[in-house]
Amino acid sequence: MSEDIRRESDVLVIGGGIHGLSTAFHLAQRGVKVTVLEADYCARHASGVNAGGVRTLGRHVAEIPLALSSRTLWHELRSVLGDDGGFVPSGQLKLAENQDELQECRERVRHLQRLGFSHEVLIGPEAVFDIIPTVARHVVGGIWVKDDGYATPFRTVTAFRLAAQKLGVQVYEATPAKRIDHKEGRWHVTAKGGVFSAEHLVITAGAWARELAAQVGESVPGRPEGLMLMVTHRVAPFCAPVLGATGRSLSFKQFANGTVVIGGKLIGTLDFPARHGEVDMTRLGTSARTVTDLFPHLKHLGVNRVWAGVEAFTEDDLPVIGPSRNATNLSYAFGFCGSGFQMGPGVGKRLAQQIVGEHSDIALDAFAIDRFQNPVSAASPEVLEPVTSIVPHH
Ligand SMILES: Cc1cc2nc3c(=O)[nH]c(=O)nc-3n(C[C@H](O)[C@H](O)[C@H](O)COP(=O)(O)OP(=O)(O)OC[C@H]3O[C@@H](n4cnc5c(N)ncnc54)[C@H](O)[C@@H]3O)c2cc1C
Repeated sequence: MSEDIRRESDVLVIGGGIHGLSTAFHLAQRGVKVTVLEADYCARHASGVNAGGVRTLGRHVAEIPLALSSRTLWHELRSVLGDDGGFVPSGQLKLAENQDELQECRERVRHLQRLGFSHEVLIGPEAVFDIIPTVARHVVGGIWVKDDGYATPFRTVTAFRLAAQKLGVQVYEATPAKRIDHKEGRWHVTAKGGVFSAEHLVITAGAWARELAAQVGESVPGRPEGLMLMVTHRVAPFCAPVLGATGRSLSFKQFANGTVVIGGKLIGTLDFPARHGEVDMTRLGTSARTVTDLFPHLKHLGVNRVWAGVEAFTEDDLPVIGPSRNATNLSYAFGFCGSGFQMGPGVGKRLAQQIVGEHSDIALDAFAIDRFQNPVSAASPEVLEPVTSIVPHH
């Protein structure tokens, strides 16, 4: 590690995935001095190996305002970062394969409309066939979101890192944070290479964030999982939007180079201590079958590559975003349960706003860490100071 290492900053971020780097970027835009510590290399884990789906479709209602605000940022990414992360506003479509599924879609759309959300639109079979002429004719309709799409994960995270570094953010890779302490009004993080300190600490360590939160007595019920994806050989263009299914697990898209990425929260196995996910070929086979049911002409298409990435899940399938309830000047964003790539731009902006005390109409209350109502047992009395310098929720 070089001699000129900057060990002191205003904000220290642990974790160089999309959430850590987006938060660092948005803070730096506001003139804040930020350092990011990354255990491996930026985008090594979920943020760089995911399916790239930029999806507001099918979100938990609590996530919708934040996901919609994040989607606005996706559409502006090129002007904000100088790189659009490969974002393609292709639309996303969730297919109904029978009348029961169509009824489920209808009820979902009605429910959202009653809540004032109009981004999900119910469509019939003709509209589906107009959007994807090649899909099997048993499909009876679905939900269409025209402003959703997909992007290139590693490129997007790299774009956030480069834009953040351009604004002065210091990024240290191969620098795992081991211990966090709050002393004399500052956070001290013992990491490989020394102790880093800052007034404010942000934990965006993905599947490893729960371990760090536990150090200040905040336990979040959840688990890491290995999520799988497969990529096929190239095939002539046949499907422009991202597709999902209502009755079975599927997320499916064709990139411009002809390859097809198939996923949909497919759980593989996980070697957590080795920070490594493993694929389960039988489960992948089931998913491939769903694809060939919908697109019989793909029956002989070969699979080129399979992998599993490490993702953080919480007990209630919602992320933790916002201030610590136990410690002062500590914020979290983790536990995105398989859908956090889309949220990256919006969460980083919202968290930065909260840290500097800027107003936002997007409330984070649904994501508060104390919603699990765990007994508080902090590691040290010093971290039990009331939260004073973080602006209250709006
Ligand atoms: C296969 C797969 C497909 C997915 N598909 C989609 C999709 O299509 N659309 C979508 O929206 N979402 C998708 N997701 C989910 C999405 O990728 C994640 O929710 C999101 O990337 C989480 O970002 P993060 O920054 O919180 O975590 P991560 O990307 O995991 O980043 C956390 C970083 O923290 C680092 N770290 C951990 N501990 C420490 C420490 N002690 N010190 C320093 N650094 C540390 C890690 O090395 C890691 O780089 C998918 C996920 C997977 C795995």
